[in-house]
Amino acid sequence: MSYIAIDNLSLSFGDNKVLKDISLTIEKGELVTLLGPSGCGKSTLLRVFAGLEVFQEGQVFLDGEEISNVPSKNRNVGMVFQSYALFPNMTVYENIAFGLTIKKFSKSEIKQKVIAALQLVNLEDKADFYPDQLSGGQQQRVSLARSLVTEPKVLLLDEPLSALDAKIRKQLQIDIRDLQKKLGITMIFVTHDQEEAMILSDRVFVMSEGNIVQQASPAELYAQPKNNFVASFIGNYN
Ligand code: ADP
Ligand code: MG
Repeated sequence: MSYIAIDNLSLSFGDNKVLKDISLTIEKGELVTLLGPSGCGKSTLLRVFAGLEVFQEGQVFLDGEEISNVPSKNRNVGMVFQSYALFPNMTVYENIAFGLTIKKFSKSEIKQKVIAALQLVNLEDKADFYPDQLSGGQQQRVSLARSLVTEPKVLLLDEPLSALDAKIRKQLQIDIRDLQKKLGITMIFVTHDQEEAMILSDRVFVMSEGNIVQQASPAELYAQPKNNFVASFIGNYN
């Protein structure tokens, strides 16, 4: 059985069917992207996996268990968003430690974990800074560290680099990929940027209007797009 499976999932908001009979599997340690134009259902699908949306049909599995009805906080998934959502009145250290205090670790365990997380994202020297003293890229590194410090089974990233300028975005793409390989953590990365998907992914799920229209490695997608939609969407890459 795959590490992650979504079976025949459909979701509507009122009359608007946003996810249409979606099925997919993801293996442990893979980095996959959900790629598609704005409004095609990427964030909704990610939020389903995080336990943040109610859906009408289908099942969601993680690590051999059905989690369809497991509350979000018990799913052991981390999430990083486009907006960094850091607490402005807490230092970098306190922001990262926040998720751990709920879990009843000792003070020394927390310190050890936060420092390890800071090292992962190369921000050891920024522990006592406040978010508004950091650049956008640095703030997003803190968000990453905050999500990773709880050692989630899966890290979900919803357009985490979209607000950053091109140079920093490129660097963070490389850093996220390196981090993912180093930790062997499973990641689902949402983007509308085909180039970003190509650089990052083991596999890409191309979405259009609530459907997954193709799932393939970047090389396969590029060489053998399944239809005109995929061809034109991926075609922008060159
Ligand atoms: P994407 O992330 O690919 O841009 P979304 O998953 O955010 O797309 O949205 C897919 C569709 O669902 C859009 O038509 C959007 O307007 C609609 N939608 C998303 N969230 C809600 C909501 N909470 N209530 C009603 N409609 C929603
Ligand atoms: Mg979105």
